[in-house]
Amino acid sequence: MSIIEKSDKFHDECGVMAVHGHQEASKLVYLGLYALQHRGQESAGIASSDLVRLHNIKAMGLVADIFTEDVLGRLPGSLAIGHTRYSTTGDSALLNAQPIRVECNKGAIALAHNGNLVNAHTLRRQLEQNGSIFQTTSDTEVVVHLIAQSKEQTLPDAIADALRRIEGAFSLVLMTRDRIFAARDPQGFRPLSMATLPNASGRPSVVFASESCAFDLIGARYERDVKPGEFVVVGNEGVHSRIFAAPRPQSSCIFEHVYFSRPDSVIFGRPVQESREALGRELAREAPVVADLVVPVPDSGVTAAVGYSNESGIPFSFGLIRNHYVGRTFIEPEQRVRDFGVRLKLNPVQHLLKGKRVVLIDDSIVRGTTSRKIVRMVRDAGATEVHMRISCPPTISPCFYGVDTPSKKHLIAANKSVEEIREYIGADSLAYLSLDGLKRACAEGENVTYCTACYTGKYPTDIVDVEEIEPAPVAWK
Ligand code: AMP
Repeated sequence: MSIIEKSDKFHDECGVMAVHGHQEASKLVYLGLYALQHRGQESAGIASSDLVRLHNIKAMGLVADIFTEDVLGRLPGSLAIGHTRYSTTGDSALLNAQPIRVECNKGAIALAHNGNLVNAHTLRRQLEQNGSIFQTTSDTEVVVHLIAQSKEQTLPDAIADALRRIEGAFSLVLMTRDRIFAARDPQGFRPLSMATLPNASGRPSVVFASESCAFDLIGARYERDVKPGEFVVVGNEGVHSRIFAAPRPQSSCIFEHVYFSRPDSVIFGRPVQESREALGRELAREAPVVADLVVPVPDSGVTAAVGYSNESGIPFSFGLIRNHYVGRTFIEPEQRVRDFGVRLKLNPVQHLLKGKRVVLIDDSIVRGTTSRKIVRMVRDAGATEVHMRISCPPTISPCFYGVDTPSKKHLIAANKSVEEIREYIGADSLAYLSLDGLKRACAEGENVTYCTACYTGKYPTDIVDVEEIEPAPVAWK
């Protein structure tokens, strides 16, 4: 690996969806985004085409709050794409919401992107030197400028040309007045799947989504994944596939299996639920402990805890209950309640935990603050021992490909040993799953190879952000 420049890190976690050839295209995209809401809760948008004009509506907030019947009525046509996004870019968040819609020399285009580009800074500088005027601070806008500036004559050729120039993670859906394009970067970082939906007109509609759970909700049938380095064009003439770049070693994000995707999705050809249960089984074999109860941190630790319990024979119990209706802001009582923020979301079931030796299972420790509070809560509820088990290796390096991880100085495992972390979170014992165990559980080698950079610091692209990965001391309180 050579570190050659500062990359972009927009902390974008996103879901994308597209429908071609359906009289209720925008409604189907809305439903798909609803199923993909876990991939981003900050803003959402849908663009549709009635074959004459592109319509585009985006706003801050949750999909179901933004897209009322009335709003969807303003998104007519048989083609639509959509996007849901989590980002930490603050004020500029609505500006950076997607789909991005532009009118350029190649016509009207709308674009939605999941993943982070690592060479967007350099490309943006070059494009600006050539006169491009950017409207947003998002890396995705670079793609539309590259398409507009391409010397290629046809739009598919201009898109292929643009896709060859961008580096990093991109699962893209793009719409013109009469066509949908779906593309995945040559390393296949983020998921993107294709499905068909029976249609009254006889010809099935074609659907794309980040995760297969979006297909289930609209009754679409999963066909296949968009391949790394492939872009699929759907138009009146049918479905066409082309390879825009030579294949590279596949680096699909293993964290999609660990945490990010919904367990009812099939990602990179493998059911997420199966991976998560196998993670728990591997963990039980690698890090056994004598205990009375296996308790998941809901929801992220639930399936791995089922696997841990089945493998170890230690009974599973929902010893922590999650409130699913916690909003963004809340009023704190004047009298200080310890760990109020976490307690609002999670509450221990005292009669289950009292007097018990508990194995707590979660998917990951990032900064360590959540685990510390949860361990304390379980202890306060009367548990006699708390053993923390994590269903992946220590997170030691930030992600540059679309998962929101803090820079290295805030990652506890980049700064402390496992024993020091155990002490910090206050557990009686702490163990993480090994990298080999993680890969086995996610079936690496069968049909997929993974990016594990957040656990190894070995990045599968040349460009990463030097500042983000250079260790800097931080005071852990
Ligand atoms: P922390 O307090 O930073 O250690 O937070 C750990 C918790 O955050 C775990 O319960 C994880 O399930 C969750 N988590 C890990 N990665 C992410 C992410 N990229 N986005 C949101 N939550 C995450």
